[in-house]
Amino acid sequence: MDSLATLLLKPGEADRIVAGHPWLYEGSILRLIGAPKDGDVVQVKDHRQRFLGLGFFNGKSRIRVRMMTHEREEIDRAFFVRRISAALKHRRKHLSGATSFRVVNSEADLLSGLIVDLYEDVLVVQTSSLGMDQRKQQVVSVLQELLSPKAILERNDMASRKFEGLEEAQGVLAGVAPEGLTARLNGLKFQIPSAGGHKTGMYLDQQDNYEAVSRWAKDANVLDCFSFLGGFALHAARAGARSVLGVDQSAEAIEAAKANAVANGLGEKVQFEAGNVFDWLKGNTTVLASEKMVPKFDLIILDPPSFTRSRAAVGDALRGYKEIHLRSLKLLRPGGVLSTFCCSHHVDARLFEDVILSAAYDCHRVLRRIAAYSQSPDHPILPSIPETEYLKGYAYEIVV
Ligand code: SAH
Repeated sequence: MDSLATLLLKPGEADRIVAGHPWLYEGSILRLIGAPKDGDVVQVKDHRQRFLGLGFFNGKSRIRVRMMTHEREEIDRAFFVRRISAALKHRRKHLSGATSFRVVNSEADLLSGLIVDLYEDVLVVQTSSLGMDQRKQQVVSVLQELLSPKAILERNDMASRKFEGLEEAQGVLAGVAPEGLTARLNGLKFQIPSAGGHKTGMYLDQQDNYEAVSRWAKDANVLDCFSFLGGFALHAARAGARSVLGVDQSAEAIEAAKANAVANGLGEKVQFEAGNVFDWLKGNTTVLASEKMVPKFDLIILDPPSFTRSRAAVGDALRGYKEIHLRSLKLLRPGGVLSTFCCSHHVDARLFEDVILSAAYDCHRVLRRIAAYSQSPDHPILPSIPETEYLKGYAYEIVV
């Protein structure tokens, strides 16, 4: 351990690390003793030389060190076996029975820079830090030992890799590449189009919420906005909806969603339409001054992409959120349910509900909150790492 380069932190900078946050920015560093290569393990100490832990160094990144452990231990294959086994144990406890789920979610599983998703018998890996990327083969070997997948794919096409000095990369890391990816979620089967560009293929973080929201679907006319592969739509149809319409702007997602509906024996009830949700909602809520709007739906689901990746664009995002809520509320029958999600880290639950209430105020609706949602347990939340919490959602009933 003493042969490792040592990084001393400025006074006051150790607290976040001790509390469990793994990112150490260049501005926190008092002094570097030694000459570590990018990707090497370094030891981190406070300004009084008290040991804080070990992490991966990267001189090219603003995140100079990604902390891996607070213990004096080797970051070797056995380390990855311990960490990944712990992550798996958490999933088996909280998502027992799931066959497709996120096995490792980076910081939230104390493995900053590593994402591993399981799609039935295929694993998809993303490495977003240089230190983790250098240890990819070690991770692959551990995943083979623990999960015996048919194949392990690399889906390193994230733009964020450039901040670590990494190129984009895609391919097969082990086994034989399958024809396409499939996920079975709560007993429904989803075929995933290969060129989707969505996370590693699907939004696994909604697995629990699909089931929870479908509770409001019995005998309902359902509108699933931003439907992607039909996650909410198919669950609603299976739960006894009268009709389901999904809208998404991606023609490829719509085709896949239609095929998924048919494959699950739900093709009769579910329809999908390619289009921009903003335009669709506007088109269906605009009436002549002499006409009255006739609400058509009993359950509307809003699960848009993040409208903002930065704090600076929050204002525009809020206008977008308000618009879709206002129009959805107009389309809901009395007693109808709005299930709505926000995956932007920069819009917290309080701010999100404020926007919904402001939309309700504008169209003279009073709402009763009947459920609150979060991300599925395979996307754990560590409150000391605020970035690990991003998905929030609510269901509201229209009271009047
Ligand atoms: N509800 C989905 C995830 C939605 S992700 C699920 O559970 O899997 C966001 C989706 O919104 C993507 O499929 C994307 O194609 C779509 N999208 C983004 N902007 C849109 C817009 N303005 N109108 C319609 N669809 C949009």
